[in-house]
Amino acid sequence: MRQLKVGSFDGVSLSTTFQTKVDVNPSDISADVRKLADWYVSTGGNNVKSLSNQGRGSMGGGGENYRGRKYLDEINQEGLGRGAKADFVDVRCVPVYMKQDAQWYDACPTCNKKVTAEGAQGDRFRCEKCDATVVPSQRYLISIQVTDNVSLAWLTLFNEAGVEFFGMPAAELKQRMAEDPVYLTKLAQSRMNRPVLMRLRVKEDLNPNAMPGDEGADRLRLSAVRLTEFMPLQGASEETRRTLAQNLRTECDDLLSCIEAY
Ligand SMILES: [Zn+2]
Repeated sequence: MRQLKVGSFDGVSLSTTFQTKVDVNPSDISADVRKLADWYVSTGGNNVKSLSNQGRGSMGGGGENYRGRKYLDEINQEGLGRGAKADFVDVRCVPVYMKQDAQWYDACPTCNKKVTAEGAQGDRFRCEKCDATVVPSQRYLISIQVTDNVSLAWLTLFNEAGVEFFGMPAAELKQRMAEDPVYLTKLAQSRMNRPVLMRLRVKEDLNPNAMPGDEGADRLRLSAVRLTEFMPLQGASEETRRTLAQNLRTECDDLLSCIEAY
């Protein structure tokens, strides 16, 4: 691909623009790229152990249960999320689909539970848990499908990750949607097909009513605890740029040593 846009935050991302040209299997690629392509085709990219774990520890969420960078299918293969506590992994992936029903809900400001409208105009809201009439706030509950180019997975984005995903609080999204019926569609389109590094929480959700072996008896729940988007370089400090460049260099060196080992 040529004429890609280079963005950078905690790494480097390449994204396509209207000027981007895509050459499939170009003949004029360098020897290193040829080696990489041959290696990937022959091994499927397996046996690469976390190319880069440096600098990921501060992403929040995980602690001793942080399992490093994973492909989505490794989450199942390695039995993550089946312990007493949730596991946390980093996945670089691309959102490809967003569930079309509501992305936010009216929440009780005290307990965050969903509230129900009462009164003819739906202008009064009741929280069953707090047993009170409340003025609701809005919280995100978003379901997206992502791919890491190997497999697909459904993720849930709760409020904090939702703010990072849409770049605004849920209350602001609610207001903009009321002003412009196609606002959400346009916003969602701008969020699809952009690579994101996500810290995921992985936990098996045990259905107490299911018999062992039933479908749905155990389901892995994946939720994003935070997103690291590859931000544009404008406005980044010189120090941040240097760190990002160094991270990319380390990642490339790791990849090259994998190729040489092969
Ligand atoms: Zn409540």
